[in-house]
Amino acid sequence: YDQRDGFIWFNGELIPWNDARVHLLTHALHYGSAVFEGMRAYDGEIFKLTEHNQRLHKSAEILDFEVPYSVAELDKAARDVVRANKLSDAYVRPLAWRGSEQMGVSAQKTRINVAIAAWDWGSYFDPAARDKGLKLTFAKYRRPDPRTAPVHSKAAGLYMICTIEKHRAEREGFADAVMLDWRGQVAECTGANIFFVKDGVIYTPTPDCFLDGITRRTVIGLAKQRGLTVIEKAILPEELEGFTECFITGTAAEVMPVGSIGEYSFTVGDITRNLMDDYAALVRPAKAVAAAG
Ligand code: PMP
Repeated sequence: YDQRDGFIWFNGELIPWNDARVHLLTHALHYGSAVFEGMRAYDGEIFKLTEHNQRLHKSAEILDFEVPYSVAELDKAARDVVRANKLSDAYVRPLAWRGSEQMGVSAQKTRINVAIAAWDWGSYFDPAARDKGLKLTFAKYRRPDPRTAPVHSKAAGLYMICTIEKHRAEREGFADAVMLDWRGQVAECTGANIFFVKDGVIYTPTPDCFLDGITRRTVIGLAKQRGLTVIEKAILPEELEGFTECFITGTAAEVMPVGSIGEYSFTVGDITRNLMDDYAALVRPAKAVAAAG
């Protein structure tokens, strides 16, 4: 990803893609002092832009640093990046991190850097899974206890176990892994939240130790608009036997059906299909208006 045409917004300016470099002694690289966002632009418009930049601010605050640009400035910067790179459908990645001015655990004197990159990133999973559902496995690592890690920050360091589990899943022929939390309850995937369906009711784990995704909250809203009941509760892996549908949500993943998790299988049913369609329509309001007109 480091050699290509295009522009990256780097501490307030748009600079050529290949010039967006940091020093080896960047604190974030050694100690994980970085937070990020992932958003998608559809037809040139970034979906839930402000919510994402607000979350970036909150994630940084949780890691004891302050993003030196306002949410409004970040919103404008993100739009500028999409435009400068002539992107229409894109993935947009803001990152805030401690710089190289001080080495050691203490990093009070480091500069807080912020960059925003954007690139074309199609379907996160194989599009064929939209019909068949994703094949998932259970992860070995568990989401940490909120007393053990800053679990409500979208902190780079929390992805260490996600990458390990994603790699293991891929090596074993699965699309992704479902992570349990420290109590053994179902939590989320390595980069997406999870939902289940039983008797027309939607169930999803309470986000008390993992990211309460922006897509998760959006899809809960869409389900309620359809008059569906959504229940947030603790879900144990052995309860998966009783669910008929399962889907995951995330900015990159969007809404994707799940065909199986280990020994448990699900069908790609009407509730999942309707929510996939509702989400696809919501992220492209112009297209929905054109179709209606
Ligand atoms: N959980 C994890 C671990 C994630 O990385 C993501 C993607 N940001 C999500 C959940 C979903 O969050 P969102 O819907 O805000 O993208």
